[in-house]
Amino acid sequence: MAVNILFAAHPERWDTYQAPLETALSKAGVAARLSTSLPAEEVDYIVYAPNSEVQDFTPFTRARAVLNLWAGVEDVVGNPTLRIPLARMVDHGLTQGMMEWVTGHVLRHHLGMDAHIHGQDGVWRKTIPPLAQDRPVTVLGLGALGRACAEALRALGFAVTGWSRSPKDIPGINCLAGDAGLRDALRTAEILVLLLPLTAQTENLLNTARLALLPRGAVIVNPGRGPLIDDDALLDALDAGHVGHATLDVFRVEPLPPDHPYWAHPRVTVTPHIASETRPDTAAQVIAENIRRGEAREPFLHLVDRKTGY
Ligand code: NDP
Repeated sequence: MAVNILFAAHPERWDTYQAPLETALSKAGVAARLSTSLPAEEVDYIVYAPNSEVQDFTPFTRARAVLNLWAGVEDVVGNPTLRIPLARMVDHGLTQGMMEWVTGHVLRHHLGMDAHIHGQDGVWRKTIPPLAQDRPVTVLGLGALGRACAEALRALGFAVTGWSRSPKDIPGINCLAGDAGLRDALRTAEILVLLLPLTAQTENLLNTARLALLPRGAVIVNPGRGPLIDDDALLDALDAGHVGHATLDVFRVEPLPPDHPYWAHPRVTVTPHIASETRPDTAAQVIAENIRRGEAREPFLHLVDRKTGY
């Protein structure tokens, strides 16, 4: 019998995801009825994105799991009507995209590329950057994305420190945890990459006191979530020159309002939440595999821990 899968995401996503999902489900051997509209009581699985119309999961009485299309789950994990397993997106297309974006932006700042790209003014600026081995980079968050980025930066030669909630042992990376670990991770960070999920514990993690721990002139690269940073504190630190530059992909309000001070700030680069987009072809395979597992009564992959919120 076919399983009923509700595609509960913004309608424009349907055009992008329908064919990849149908192909992936067929390859996974799952006979499925996939639709943007099904009677709630007939739905077996919900493929979900936060801007979906579905906010109340109560009517989905036989649904076995909600399968989030994005890696971040802050918009759904706290929904009190959600009482079935929630899986998030962990996918090699998403990971590869993030590694490319993070290494690109770290190299931009490490090499001081801006001076040459914007400085075609007849001045022979022969400033030699240090080798990567002499550039300490810290990655906050060592999960699917943070670890891959830390390892890619390490492979380029950077001196990488990583910080996570639980202690880790990753070859070549100085792994820290806990409050004291965070202080040490910030004190050395000439370039700081934020790849933490947004939870009650991580909101405003980068506040005035923690920004003050960074070396003067440090660069912040944030593809994690906007509210990880206290915006006013960051603007003050940028104005004071304590933070040399912030490359920000994510914001408290998205799209970032046109009059937001970040747009015009000379030390800020804004990118429009493009660090890594979920890739339909590879993401569809992850969704299909989880549905196959659900039907085979095997454990779901990438389940969100509702207690930690990620
Ligand atoms: P994971 O859940 O795999 O990893 C999260 C990491 O953060 C883990 O290492 C975890 O520690 C650590 N962490 C969580 N809470 C804390 C805490 N309170 N203190 C210290 N460390 C903590 O997530 P992903 O790597 O897959 O994704 C990270 C985030 O990236 C997403 O939540 C999303 O917000 C963002 N993202 C942004 C995209 C973009 O285009 N801009 C695209 C995709 C994701 P531990 O290992 O101990 O559990």
